[in-house]
Amino acid sequence: MRACVIGAGVVGCSIGLELRRRGCDATIVDRNGAVGHGSTSASCGIVRRFYSEPGMIAMAQEGAGIWADWAAYVGPIDDDPAVFLRPGMLFIPPRIDDGVRGIVAEMQRLHVPVALLSPEEVTARFPFLDMASQFPPRPVDDPSFFEPGEAPIEGAVFEEDAGYVVSPGLATQNLRLAGERDGVRFLLNREVVKILARDSGDYQVDLAGGDPVHCDVVVNAAGPHSSQVNGLAGVELPLETRALRREVHALGNPQYTDEAGGQVPVVGDFNGGIYFRPESGGRTLIVGSTDPACDALEWIPDPDDFTPCVTEPYHRRQSLRLMKRFPEVRLGPARGVAALYDVTVHDWYPIADRTDQPGYYVCIGTSGSSFKTAPVLGGLMAEIIDSCEAGRDPDRSPVQLELPRVGVAVDTRFLSRLRGDIQTTGTVIG
Ligand SMILES: Cc1cc2nc3c(=O)[nH]c(=O)nc-3n(C[C@H](O)[C@H](O)[C@H](O)COP(=O)(O)OP(=O)(O)OC[C@H]3O[C@@H](n4cnc5c(N)ncnc54)[C@H](O)[C@@H]3O)c2cc1C
Repeated sequence: MRACVIGAGVVGCSIGLELRRRGCDATIVDRNGAVGHGSTSASCGIVRRFYSEPGMIAMAQEGAGIWADWAAYVGPIDDDPAVFLRPGMLFIPPRIDDGVRGIVAEMQRLHVPVALLSPEEVTARFPFLDMASQFPPRPVDDPSFFEPGEAPIEGAVFEEDAGYVVSPGLATQNLRLAGERDGVRFLLNREVVKILARDSGDYQVDLAGGDPVHCDVVVNAAGPHSSQVNGLAGVELPLETRALRREVHALGNPQYTDEAGGQVPVVGDFNGGIYFRPESGGRTLIVGSTDPACDALEWIPDPDDFTPCVTEPYHRRQSLRLMKRFPEVRLGPARGVAALYDVTVHDWYPIADRTDQPGYYVCIGTSGSSFKTAPVLGGLMAEIIDSCEAGRDPDRSPVQLELPRVGVAVDTRFLSRLRGDIQTTGTVIG
């Protein structure tokens, strides 16, 4: 079987490698000159298991196992393997309710080292964090923004061994080298301009500049360009994917010391509307948004046309929210990155599936949180494609994905294009 994967981000490179490992002839095409230069390059690389949907908890746990064993996963390559740093992750939900307790129980069932901490336990462990509840987060120009929270948070979830990968770009380059070693072909600086399903049952993928790719299956892994690429193939999905603009800002880390390198964990502060983590050996903090209801989402109709640099309103909003949770932080100049998520508008979960057009597959709508699961999604896509091309219909009989590191199989219908409503926060938290 000959496959053409469109997009050489972390997802496309993972799919290419996994297809090749199953004996497929894989070509990955990207319009950029290097791999991982789409949204992957802006990723914070956070690896956590706290998700509403049990299947995603299991896939994220499998992903964490792969990142922890990355050098072995990619095999011998002439490059430094990306490193998974694990300072732990503190997740501060709006409240500790049965939903949160259920997620923690499911994580524990899958052997994630996770615990519910009381506010006192959080303070004992991370005394630099302010424990006032900020929920619901307010706009920074709200007159009450700086008023102290009246009640403390109800508690937090701590994943002992969560962390982040340094760096997502390097990890994707590792995947490229592993793929090339095993026979994956990369066509870079080549833009896909048309995807033609031919009467003979195969595909012609036209590239700007000529020399089309002929293949049996096409996989759309084009990130924020996912719906444009579906358009090139004339494919419509029942679930819409859309590009959403994001900014991530860098501030000094007041907890950093040369000796300790900083004791700040990754913090998913859904209560305060932000997430943050250490960077550069702990010297810097990077902060992003969890999209609280009071902020308008910045949907981008054309992913080739958006402001590609950080802006003062975002910087102020995210920095001030960070300073409420972490009062020692000082406001600095606006530094950071602006990039796009590819969001499945319905529920913020990826779509990893076949389509109604035989031979055309999608792994899209990664919704700002699929770096951690990219190698697992790669394996899932290879499984879907293999079984579908062998005549099985995953719409009737969804792939039960074996996760060897976790020791469970996951029913993957929650990633199908035909799924109904699933358990989700409808945000990047998933
Ligand atoms: C700011 C930010 C922070 C994030 N933080 C995290 C995090 O902490 N943890 C986590 O798990 N996830 C995170 N994510 C999400 C994660 O990074 C993405 O889910 C993942 O990188 C998506 O990878 P991808 O390969 O699907 O897309 P991309 O990396 O965008 O790759 C798609 C590729 O397709 C190519 N392409 C598009 N159209 C064409 C065409 N017509 N022809 C040829 N090539 C084409 C593009 O050039 C691009 O290289 C974050 C994302 C962002 C933006």
